[in-house]
Amino acid sequence: MDVDSDSDISLLGDEDRRGKGKGKGKATEKRKKDKVKGKSKEQAYTWEASYTRSWDTVQEDETGSLQGAVDDLMARGRRRRLLAPAAPIRRTIIRHLVLILDLSNSMMDRDMRPTRFDLALRYAREFVTEWFDQNPLGQVGLVGMRAGLGERFGEMSGNPQDVLKALNDRTKLEPTGEPSLQNAIEMARGSMSHLPAQASREILIIFGSLTTCDPGNIHDTLDVCIKNRIRISIIALAAEMKICRELCEKSGGQFGVAMNEGHFKDLLFELVPPPAQQTTVRTTGGGSGNPPADLIMMGFPTRLPDTSPPSLCACHSDMKSEGFLCPRCMAKVCDVPTDCDICGLMIVSSPHLARSYHHLFPVKPYHAVSSLVDVVAPTGACHACARSFPTTASTVAVTEGMSPLGRYRCPDCRHDFCAECDVFVHDVVHCCPGCGK
Ligand SMILES: [Zn+2]
Ligand SMILES: [Zn+2]
Ligand SMILES: [Zn+2]
Ligand SMILES: [Zn+2]
Repeated sequence: MDVDSDSDISLLGDEDRRGKGKGKGKATEKRKKDKVKGKSKEQAYTWEASYTRSWDTVQEDETGSLQGAVDDLMARGRRRRLLAPAAPIRRTIIRHLVLILDLSNSMMDRDMRPTRFDLALRYAREFVTEWFDQNPLGQVGLVGMRAGLGERFGEMSGNPQDVLKALNDRTKLEPTGEPSLQNAIEMARGSMSHLPAQASREILIIFGSLTTCDPGNIHDTLDVCIKNRIRISIIALAAEMKICRELCEKSGGQFGVAMNEGHFKDLLFELVPPPAQQTTVRTTGGGSGNPPADLIMMGFPTRLPDTSPPSLCACHSDMKSEGFLCPRCMAKVCDVPTDCDICGLMIVSSPHLARSYHHLFPVKPYHAVSSLVDVVAPTGACHACARSFPTTASTVAVTEGMSPLGRYRCPDCRHDFCAECDVFVHDVVHCCPGCGK
C-alpha cells in the first residue's frame, strides 16, 4: 500500500523535473538512488506494479480455468465479422499511407509502458508488417513531428524492409519539443500529391500530445486534404482533442483514443484492412449505384537471376545483378511493386495481386450451430482439421455467437468446422476449405 503510493510520488517527481529541462540529469540521478534504497525491501521496480493491470481484463471461472476468457475473446471476433456488410463493397487495394509519429516530449510519458514512445514504435513495426502482409500493393511513408516541424524519415516505399529499417533506428527518432499537426500533414500531403487518382491516400497519426503548434490555419490544411481525397485517421494516446476529431470526421478517417496498451493495438490494427472507397467518388461518377470502374495498366516483370551480368538499376543507379525488368521499356528496377521510373508503368508481381484479392471477396461468416436435431447424419469431425466434435453439448453457459457444440457451419457448403478452424479460415486462409469460395 505505502509502496504503491511511494512509487507514484517518485514518478510525478521525475515528471516535474523533466519539465524544467536543465539540471534534470542530476536530479533524477539522485532520485533514482533514493528509489532503489527504498524499494529493495518489498518491490524491485515501479514498473512491476503496472504489470498487474494486464491481468485485470482476464477473469478466471470458478474452476480456475481460463477457457471462459478465451471463448469470450473468440466470440468477440465472431460478432465483429458478422457485423461486416455481406454485400460486396468496393475497396481500394492500391493504398498509399503516410504514418505520422508524434515525436514530441509528451511521448516520453510513462502512462503506457515502458514509454508511449517505445510502445508506439513497437506497435508501429508490428502494424507495418501486418499492413504489408494484407496490402502487398501498398506503399508506406514515414513522417515525424517534433520541435514544431514535420520531418520525413522514410520515403514512400513498397518494401516493408525499408520502412522497418527507418522505424528501427531509435536514436534518430528521439522525441523532442512540441508537435505540429499542420506541418506534418502538409509534409505528408506533399509526398502523396503526385499519386494517380485510383490510389488511396491515407494519413495515420499516432498523437501523444495535447497541443499542436501550427504556423497557419489548420482548417485550410484540412480543406485541401478533403479536396485531395486524403483520409486522415488519428489515434490519440492522451485525450480527445476537437481538432483531431474534426480532421478525421471531415476527411472520412477514423478517430480513437487509446485507453490502455491493448486498446491502442486494437485501434491501430483496425486500420489494416483496406477502407471502403469513398462516397465522394460515387457522386462525381454520376450514377447512384457503382461508380464507373477504371482500368489500370499493370505490368508483370521478368525476374533476373542472381547470376545475370551486373547492370545499373533505373531507380538507384546501383550496379547489381538481381532485379526485375519492366515489361514495357525493359528498364531494370530493384523491387516490386513499384512504378517504373522510366515509363511510369505500375509493376506488380502476380502473387501480390492475388493476395490483395481476398479483401474484395471475403469468406462468408460461419453460423454457430446450436442444435443437431434437424440434421440427418451429423459429421463427427471438423471438415478442415478432422478433429472430432464433442458428442454432448457443453453445459457451461455459452456467450452469444458461440456454438455449445463447438460447430460452425459454412452457409454455402454446409460443412461443419471447429472454432479454431473458423478463426484460421477467416483470418489467414481467406478461402473456405469446403467449397473453395
Ligand atoms: Zn534500384
Ligand atoms: Zn518501364
Ligand atoms: Zn478444425
Ligand atoms: Zn464452404
